[in-house]
Order: sequence, then structure tokens, then C-alpha cells
Amino acid sequence: MCRLFAFVCKIYADAFRRVSDFSNLIPNLHQMQFKHIIGQEAIKQRLMNTVKENRVSHAQLFLGPEGSGSLALAVAYAQYVSCEDKQPDDSCGVCSSCRKYQKLVHPDLHFSYPFFAKDKNDTALTFIEQWRDAFLANPYLSLDLWRGYLDAENKQANINIAECHQVIKKLSFKPFESVYKVLILWLPEYLDKEGNSLLKIIEEPQPNTLFLLVAQNQDQILNTILSRTQLVKIPALTYDDIKQALMENYHQTELAASEIAYLSNGNMTEALAMLQEENKSFHALFVQWLRLCYANRGPEVIAFVDQASKLGRENQKNFLRYGISFIRECCLLMAGAGSLVHLPPNELETAQKMTNVMDIAQAQAISDELEKAHYHVERNANPKILFLDVSLQIIKVLKFKTLPKGTLYIPN
Ligand SMILES: [Zn+2]
Repeated sequence: MCRLFAFVCKIYADAFRRVSDFSNLIPNLHQMQFKHIIGQEAIKQRLMNTVKENRVSHAQLFLGPEGSGSLALAVAYAQYVSCEDKQPDDSCGVCSSCRKYQKLVHPDLHFSYPFFAKDKNDTALTFIEQWRDAFLANPYLSLDLWRGYLDAENKQANINIAECHQVIKKLSFKPFESVYKVLILWLPEYLDKEGNSLLKIIEEPQPNTLFLLVAQNQDQILNTILSRTQLVKIPALTYDDIKQALMENYHQTELAASEIAYLSNGNMTEALAMLQEENKSFHALFVQWLRLCYANRGPEVIAFVDQASKLGRENQKNFLRYGISFIRECCLLMAGAGSLVHLPPNELETAQKMTNVMDIAQAQAISDELEKAHYHVERNANPKILFLDVSLQIIKVLKFKTLPKGTLYIPN
């Protein structure tokens, strides 16, 4: 009983830590201080210096390739500018301004971005909820990912004339709470020639406005805008930055991190997509395994064991680690803490189904088996014997509801 209680406490503690700490695998509430952004130390320093030396240019163009973190840097910079208790090397993260920034709900923070207008009066504001979700889930957002949050069909994304007027209107008000009113315009490449209507506010801004444009392709930006903004060039991330981030923040092994860092070519958006892809295939495999065990289908279990034994040691470890975290998410659902669960929709659906066939004690037993297996894989256990043994244990737990000694079965 004590062990079970400790297990549930640990799940809760993990979940809470994850929500409050950026450095974890599941991107939900991303905080956006400088320290949470991968690499780019020189840029961060330069940006903070503009504030310290009181030379914040009111119209700046953050130009960086996809996955460099340029959008995240713009948000962190705006948060720093508005912070009520600036620290030497970052915003404080706790003042009232920072707290609103962290949810992207500060009344003096505005966003503009490409979208698919269904109606000619649609503006970026129509999609602000989706925007907040998308950015907070992944600050290394790409247009493709953003498209997924919108009902895109095959329409062309752009920043329309209604939106340009909206931008002008937003920037004409005085700030409500902060010294600065900030507008972050993502992908000015998607401004048509209507973008020229913005020139006046760039040239003759209202006092205390900060207009940050975040772009990827210099060639596709209206020259009139280019010539009127201060350029902040943001380089692609380095191989080492990405590798280190994958190991520290996303719990990848050195080998896996090196591989993804190499393939991603300095693009964190790409690296995160690869990571997710890997998880996706583990998800299917893991759920298949549980199903086979639950149904006690001997021959198919043996086939799975064969397949798993050929994954290679690093993949086996990642697979088991995926399983452990998936089971934890199931436990959170069972414990009524659904709001702490961060799974993609299809995985969430499976997790919900899982809660109908197991309880927390069973989940703990499975999780323990997976932990043990992970330990043994690291120590070069024979993978066939190992996965067969774990499968038998899971069959006992799931199918026959027999829990290993030391755990207590609590009936539903
Ligand atoms: Zn602050």
C-alpha cells in the first residue's frame, strides 16, 4: 500500500515538475525567458544590452532560418523589455508582466501572423487561441506546423489587408500596463503589397511601441520594410547546441542526440519533428505489445519479442523509456489528473482506453517491469530472453491481474 502511494505521489511530482519546468520532454507550457531558449548566447546578450543601454530600436527585423529560435527570441526579448524586475541576464519570470507574457496574454503584447482568411474581415486575432496553443506547445513553430492548427485545406496563407489595418490600430493605442506596447509580426514574407500600409507606423511610430518582425527569407520581404527596420541576424543553431538540448531537455541518449542533431542541420523544428516521429513509432509498437499481452496471444507475443530484440540496444532503451512515460500518463488519467496529461490526440485516445483495462496498481507493476528491463538492457541482457520475460510478466499483470509480491491489488 505504501509503495503504491509513493508511486502515485511520484507520478504527480513528475507531472508537476514537467509543467513548471521547461527542461522536459513533453512540450506543454513552455516558458519563454532567454534561459529557456537553446543556444544563441551572443544574440541574447546583444538584445539585453540594447535595453540596458537604452537603445531599443522601435522596429527590428529578426532574420533567422527555420528552427533557429528567432520567434522565441523575439518573445523573450519583448518579455525582458516589459519585465518589472529585470535581472542582469534575463527577465525575472515572476513579476506580473512576466507571468502574463508566459501565457502570451499580456494586454500590451500583440501578434500578427499568416492565416487562412475564411472571411475578408478575419484577422490574426480570430485565431489567437490557436496561436497561443501552437507557440506554447512548440516555440520552434514552423509555418507547416502552424498550418496544422488552422483549418487550412489548400489555401494560401497570408497577412491580409484587414490584418494590416488591425496592426496599425493596435499600435496606435497607448500601452495599458507596460512601458512598451509590443507587436510581433511573424513571417512578414507573407505580407502582400498591402504591407506597404505599415510603412508609416514603422517610420513614425507612436512613442513606446516596439515592432518586431520575425522572418526567414530576406529575399521575400518587401524592400521598403527591409530598409526601414534594424536587422538582427540570427544564425542557425550549431550541431552541439542541438545535441546538448536533446540530451538535457529531451532525455535522449548521446548516440540518438548526435544522430538527430546531425540530420537536423541546425534546425530545431526539424529535430523536434524527428523526435516526435520516433515517439510515434514507439507508441504504435508499445500499444501493440500491451494489446497482445492483454489478449495473451502467445505466437504473436513471440513475434513481437523477435521484433523488439532486433531494435538495437539504444532503441530498446528508448522504447522502454517511452513505455514508462506512456504508462505514467495513463496513471494521471486514472488519478483524475487529466489536465496534467500531455499526449498527442491519438495517444491520448489510446491512453484513455488503457484506463478501462488496468488500474493504478497494475500500471505500477507494468512500469516496474519496464524500469527493470531498461536496467537490464543497459547491462547487456540477452534481448530475446529479456523481452519474453517482460511480456510474460505483463500478461500476468494485465490478463490475470496477478501482481508481483510487494504490490497490493486494489479492486476497481
Ligand atoms: Zn519579470
